[in-house]
Amino acid sequence: MNIKKNKSLLEFNTFGVESTVAHYLKIATEEDLYDSIKYVEKNRLKYFFLGGGSNILLTSEKYNMAALHIQTSGIEIIDEDDESITIRCAAGENWDDVVAFSVERGLGGIENMSLIPGTIGAAPIQNIGAYGQELKDTFVEARVLLTDTKKTVDISNEECNFGYRDSIFKKELKDKAVILYVTLKLRKNPKLNYSYKGVREIIFVRGDEQVTVKEIRNAIIQLRTEKLPDPAILGNAGSFFKNPEILEESYNILKRFSPEIEGFKTKDGKVKLSAAKLIELSGWKGRREGNCGVYENHSLVLVNYGGAKGSEIASVAKKIINDVFETFGIKLTAEVNFF
Ligand code: FAD
Ligand code: NAP
Repeated sequence: MNIKKNKSLLEFNTFGVESTVAHYLKIATEEDLYDSIKYVEKNRLKYFFLGGGSNILLTSEKYNMAALHIQTSGIEIIDEDDESITIRCAAGENWDDVVAFSVERGLGGIENMSLIPGTIGAAPIQNIGAYGQELKDTFVEARVLLTDTKKTVDISNEECNFGYRDSIFKKELKDKAVILYVTLKLRKNPKLNYSYKGVREIIFVRGDEQVTVKEIRNAIIQLRTEKLPDPAILGNAGSFFKNPEILEESYNILKRFSPEIEGFKTKDGKVKLSAAKLIELSGWKGRREGNCGVYENHSLVLVNYGGAKGSEIASVAKKIINDVFETFGIKLTAEVNFF
């Protein structure tokens, strides 16, 4: 276990916000994790877990706490049958490396989630998803350390209670569990999903007769590279807000009042609204306030133009929530985790 005092977290959050933490613990092995829990308890420190830092907003410039940075590694094939291959990944593995591992073997289930930043250990927290795929579709279980009892348990897919960008880790187990391993079941003959317009257009333009997981991955990489700001150049944490889900009747009323609104029917009979469109229609697309604002090419992404404090970004987010509420009566909720 590697411990540093008063460490800057600038390079560990994709928003590029400057903030220091009193104790920084790098966790490279499972043993490091147990040692780090002993360390924080012995020193009576409050603490939080950090993965790739791509879904957090550091609202304070100084944390008198400990950051436990999960950097464990390893992808292992643990089972195989005629239809699938099951892999077990250490929490600190880079998510996109796991996708590449799967696609290189022609396996399906996570290819639409190519290029999502961050670690696999954080993927179950919000049940990551993109272009019609979600983690829950391949997730088998997570090995988790419960920080209050110090027990290590396996939490199954069903127990995770996955929802749209949601799971037990954001509710009952919030701040009570650290994910050590994630097990995924990948399909040998997957049913490919190119339901999203952008993906369909690229696949169609290429004129491929038999689409492969590799082609889907390439299409997603192309789309994301063209559309999303690169955090290395422009600090951001991807979509700042969740897409709200509302009753169909409410959607029909809204649509009459504002025909530009976009909605997609969900499996449980609701309508998922495009939060990006609501933000745009509330006048926030490309709007800048000081060192931060809404990205000009994507209204769901808040960006740090350089030197923005986390509190400034939080304040802009609050204004957006208020304006969208005043315009549409819909309360946006943050997808990003505030610290
Ligand atoms: P962090 O930001 O480090 O942490 C996120 C939360 O998880 C924190 O609360 C942290 O305490 C907790 N945590 C981290 N690791 C563990 C662990 N091992 N055990 C317990 N808790 C832990 N998300 C999507 O769903 N779909 C997308 O398409 C998508 N696109 C993005 C594009 C960009 C450009 C960016 C910057 C972000 C995007 N995101 C997307 C958001 C983000 O990448 C994901 O939510 C990702 O899973 C976060 O992983 P991380 O390792 O960076 O987590
Ligand atoms: P997009 O393709 O322009 O679509 C806009 C919104 O409409 C998305 O939020 C998406 O919902 C929804 N949508 C589009 N086609 C749909 C369909 N066929 N069925 C159901 N819903 C549909 O979105 P984008 O912003 O460029 O992002 C593309 C994908 O990457 C999306 O899945 C998005 O969630 C994901 N992404 C996520 C983040 C993040 O940080 N969470 C950041 C960037 C991109 P969904 O969001 O539910 O898919």
